[in-house]
Amino acid sequence: MDDVTGEVTDLLQHLIRNACVNDGAPESGEESRNADLLVSYLEGSGVDLERYEPVAGRASVVGRIDGHDPDAPALLLMGHTDVVPANPDGWTRDPFGGELVDGEVWGRGAVDMLNLTASMAVATKHLAEEGFRPAGNLLYLAVADEENLGEAGAKWLVEHKPDAVTADYVITESGGIPFPTPTGIKLPIVVGEKGTHWTTVRVRGTPGHGSSPLLTDNALVKAAEVVRRIDAYRPDAQIHTTWRRLVESLGLPPELSEPMLEPEGFREMCEALPMVGLARMAHACTHTTITPTVVRGGSKVNVIPDWVDVDLDIRTLPGQSGDQIDAMLREALGDLADEVELVVRQHDDATESPADTPLWETLQRVSSKLFPGSATVPLMMMGATDARFFRRTGAVAYGFGLFSQHITFDEFSSMFHGDNERVDQESLRLSTELWEATARDLLGA
Ligand SMILES: [Zn+2]
Repeated sequence: MDDVTGEVTDLLQHLIRNACVNDGAPESGEESRNADLLVSYLEGSGVDLERYEPVAGRASVVGRIDGHDPDAPALLLMGHTDVVPANPDGWTRDPFGGELVDGEVWGRGAVDMLNLTASMAVATKHLAEEGFRPAGNLLYLAVADEENLGEAGAKWLVEHKPDAVTADYVITESGGIPFPTPTGIKLPIVVGEKGTHWTTVRVRGTPGHGSSPLLTDNALVKAAEVVRRIDAYRPDAQIHTTWRRLVESLGLPPELSEPMLEPEGFREMCEALPMVGLARMAHACTHTTITPTVVRGGSKVNVIPDWVDVDLDIRTLPGQSGDQIDAMLREALGDLADEVELVVRQHDDATESPADTPLWETLQRVSSKLFPGSATVPLMMMGATDARFFRRTGAVAYGFGLFSQHITFDEFSSMFHGDNERVDQESLRLSTELWEATARDLLGA
């Protein structure tokens, strides 16, 4: 094992063991422990370090290598330091043990995304130690609170400390999982993310005695029909530019690629795909999705409920407004639409960066050297990352990283927020080399 692999492995193990679990509560996370770890790792290497702690215990760290040309573009490498909770019952190893077993590091955060947070730190430190003097600034951001809404992390930094984190180009999670095709390995670069429009459907009824249900107005019975209609609703497939470019660049035979560009029959095509992770992604990338997730209501076993709330996790495509989504919901509910109230809990527009940029060209050039014969392809993500805050400042923000071929795409998607999360050391080495080469190629000397 070479020195770089050992160094990034060790740093990742320590980040996992700090267990900066963000359960959504404002006081959870305690990312200061990972911030302190990264400060002590980077200190003395020549990287300028600044620590920001908007909420006690929730620190983020910015490291900089300043460029010599104030007009040259700046690159920000951004990794989050928090992780989602893990239930040890479903794991074969301690989710916070950071064990190294047969060349794999186990633990919560191994792929989301302490692996990249660690490899970005190692690359930045090595560049500084070698006396790297770029034209444009190189920034490293280890950020808190990505797994909730970024209120104590990226959102706060962009709003309150823009001078510290603003950059022309940003790279964060999550792309680069090698996808084998008949024309070679494709490496997805995440160029955009769907938006959210979390809505509560409040269903009203009339209270009464549970012993005599005939001709009553039971909110729970009505809510069941609301859920059924939403599940049966079929929004049209949207073959947007990013999806079209992805399919066209996969180099698949026409009998496979043509149905992927045809809205008619798209859902049935997804259902017939042999890999369920891929099927879910293909469907989610091209559709507005509306998923009932939480139900609240009822007070007592012998009381007919007079209200029930149903929460919907709604994910939107670029260009879709809240009004458009509300109209879709009304269409889905039909004659029940007038009997319920729609309460929007959280709206966040989808974001997208162009795919024809100098950063794209750099990533294509650099990754095809590390992964001979590979080509980068654009992808829209279902979930949100901190990249959205930076796209809104005008930055080009992508999700990328490099992974070995030891783990399949389906295994990979099941480990995000799932059980038995782990990463192999070759992936850690590849990403570290990727960040160093990207900084050299993009920022010049
Ligand atoms: Zn993440």
